Amino acid sequence: MSAAPDRPWRRVAAATGLLSADGQVRPTIFAEMSALANRTGALNLGQGFPDTDGPPQVARAAADAIMAGHNQYPPGAGIPALLGAVAAHQHRSYGLELDPDTQVLITTGATEAIAAAVLALVGPGDEVLTLEPFYDSYAAVIALAGAVHTTVPLVAGPGGFRLDEAALRAAVTDRTRLILLNSPHNPTGTVLTRDELASVAAVARTHDLLVLTDEVYEHLTYGAPHVPIATLPQMAERTLTVSSSGKSLSFTGWKIGWISGPADLITAVRTVKQFLTYVSGAPFQPAVADALVDPQVAAWVADLATSLARRRDLLCDGLERAGFTVVVPQGTYFVLADAAPLGYADGAELCRALPGLAGVVGVPAGAFTRAGSATGTALASWIRFTFVKQTPVLTEAVERLGRWADAGRTGETP
Ligand SMILES: *Cc1c(COP(=O)(O)O)cnc(C)c1O
Repeated sequence: MSAAPDRPWRRVAAATGLLSADGQVRPTIFAEMSALANRTGALNLGQGFPDTDGPPQVARAAADAIMAGHNQYPPGAGIPALLGAVAAHQHRSYGLELDPDTQVLITTGATEAIAAAVLALVGPGDEVLTLEPFYDSYAAVIALAGAVHTTVPLVAGPGGFRLDEAALRAAVTDRTRLILLNSPHNPTGTVLTRDELASVAAVARTHDLLVLTDEVYEHLTYGAPHVPIATLPQMAERTLTVSSSGKSLSFTGWKIGWISGPADLITAVRTVKQFLTYVSGAPFQPAVADALVDPQVAAWVADLATSLARRRDLLCDGLERAGFTVVVPQGTYFVLADAAPLGYADGAELCRALPGLAGVVGVPAGAFTRAGSATGTALASWIRFTFVKQTPVLTEAVERLGRWADAGRTGETP
């Protein structure tokens, strides 16, 4: 087994911490925790998908599109109406000018946009620099490309998880080719400030790096403004921006995403993307195109953000009352909470026990770090919980966690 060849799947399993010593591939922590939730009837605050669907008129538009015959391969880049709607959205929201014919590409969710961009732009010998913790697909696709994954930490402090700017400058080498950014950030809930983005931009310009930025939570912020790094001086020419309808519209299963940026880079991404999936989501594309230009849908998304801010507060207050240390997120679906004050040093161990102890499921923050990294050590006792669940579910979860913590404090078993 020691002489096992370096197959891509093995690199992916190793990079995501799923390769065990005997060469077997373990299920992801998300699969393990969701199975545990199903088995025990615990409330699943692990995986981040909404338990309420998006706007009914958008669902109706997709159903109508099926009945109207939008059921064959759409154009390779995406249907013109959706390409135009993405360009119009970027202009209306951020003042970014994009030619829909050459600077926008529709993908199978943000996931495929990121995968196609990484596979198109980096290879063996290149380094890809991401924040740490990071969304799990990044490590997988960097490994698939044969590139080296380097990271810069987000560090917990009074102002939230903030970018370590000195570490950022130190992490860049002459092999760094791409910075893969994510703001609003999963799993910390950080919304990078204009100053933090300016320091990333300065590094990218100085070292002539490309930036790939995952902005799927662009509309789900709670007071902190979302700034696309492509809007900073001289950054549009080196930045690929990724987003998706999954999170903004609460249709995560539709998998309609997009990537935009300079025409030559979009051509590169499209060259790879066309042989991954070619196309997808024919009836969903016109529905999302209409949604992106519909002011009523924009109001629905704004209401979603308002409602999520309230649900964030409900969950954060409850976690604090139960004894966790909480860093209140400024965006996304997620909060990171530290179980160390409750006497738990190992977040993964507590996540496996929590369904039995309290009837609640979370995922360990370590799932978003590299094995053995300093950030992994710093976050060893942290757990990610999602608040994109209906208020009664969160209320019940918070009550359960409170009862468990109270029982612990008085020495009883719940
Ligand atoms: C959910 C999520 C994605 C995946 O988006 P899809 O459009 O479903 O592929 C990508 N990045 C982050 C940070 C996410 O949380």
